[in-house]
Amino acid sequence: MKLHWKIIIGLALGLLYGIFAATQGLGGFTSNWIAPFGTIFISLLKLIAVPLILSSLITGVASLSNLKKLSRIGGKTITIYILTTAISVTIGLVIVNMLQPGDRVPDEMKIKLQETYQSAADTKASAAANVKDRGPLQPIVDIVPSNFFNAASSNRNMLQVVFVAIFIGIGLIQIPKNKSKPFLDFFEGLNAVVIKLVNIIMLMAPIGVFALIADTINTVAGDDLTNILELLGSLGYYMITVILGLLIHMSVTYSAILKIFTNMSLKDFYKGIAPAQLLAFSTSSSSATLPVTMECCEDKLGVSEEVSSFVLPLGATINMDGTALYQAVAAVFIAQTLGMDLTLGAQLTIVLTAVLASIGTAAVPGAGLIMLVIILEAIGVPSQGIALILGVDRILDMMRTTTNVTGDASVAVFIASTENQISPPKKEFD
Ligand code: ASP
Repeated sequence: MKLHWKIIIGLALGLLYGIFAATQGLGGFTSNWIAPFGTIFISLLKLIAVPLILSSLITGVASLSNLKKLSRIGGKTITIYILTTAISVTIGLVIVNMLQPGDRVPDEMKIKLQETYQSAADTKASAAANVKDRGPLQPIVDIVPSNFFNAASSNRNMLQVVFVAIFIGIGLIQIPKNKSKPFLDFFEGLNAVVIKLVNIIMLMAPIGVFALIADTINTVAGDDLTNILELLGSLGYYMITVILGLLIHMSVTYSAILKIFTNMSLKDFYKGIAPAQLLAFSTSSSSATLPVTMECCEDKLGVSEEVSSFVLPLGATINMDGTALYQAVAAVFIAQTLGMDLTLGAQLTIVLTAVLASIGTAAVPGAGLIMLVIILEAIGVPSQGIALILGVDRILDMMRTTTNVTGDASVAVFIASTENQISPPKKEFD
């Protein structure tokens, strides 16, 4: 059986078990005996992320014949990332203005949501305050680490690792071959080992995904399913708006990129990328999914390692179309629910801040919600308003992370195609 089917079965069983556990009050059992398998699975994926980026990017950059090519690929990648993010925010804004989900929340539910999630909303707002106090150039300053081991010691510093790897790769191109060879040989070996490890970890994926989904339902619903049903009832329209936006973005924007600029059929693309999408959905983290996204792109879609090792780690950290679209819809939804009218200027501010905020959003669960606070403040909507959407945020996080990862993969295929770096897929994943 193909890996993605095994993962889908794990996901479905996790869903069924989660609902069963919530109705039977098995919350404690689930967090003690089921959830740890999900944690182990995610930890394994995170464990290999830094060595994977280092080894594949160093060997990738060092194999580029000249630096001109690197800057051309870099410029193209960043431009398309920003462009697609801006398109996704615009789609989100059009849909939320058309469907007006904020007008559908009953008044008593508004009060209840504000009360229930107030303290959680305050915590997120103070996390956002730390980010907001930084100067305008701080994100660029943050990319350059002052100590390599510090950078490599946290998966949150992925962009710093990307920077170091490119920097070392550039150095390697410029020294004599006999000096660079031993160094490169080491990283090529490391790269081969890490790729093998991804395959081994993926054997555990169905169980890991089962545990992750069961635990997510457990956390969202607690021991009382009526909780979540009530939430889905009152915020259902808002959720549909976000999901519809994400689907439109995926099926219009990404399909257009693939159809116009590449020879890849949509069927091949989605078949190839399915394991990464399922993992993004289950983990809500683009960075935890990164090793699998790279593996899928290289082995199943035929993207060269040179392109995938540069485009995908960068994309996992800065390209978050799903997050940006969600932030735009959520900001307008909160304003609508609070009875505030947003001017055209405010909506344009959303486009700008959502693109920037999604770039600054960490690729971990729930990070998009924290950056939403900054957008709300930019358009003068009280940030406590996030209490309204906190209850269903995890579910939407799963959806937006899937979009984020799909976006990274489509751009990788686009860059590889336009750079003539796409070849017939090497092998099947499983
Ligand atoms: N969980 C998302 C990701 O990792 C970020 C977010 O929107 O919260 O891509």
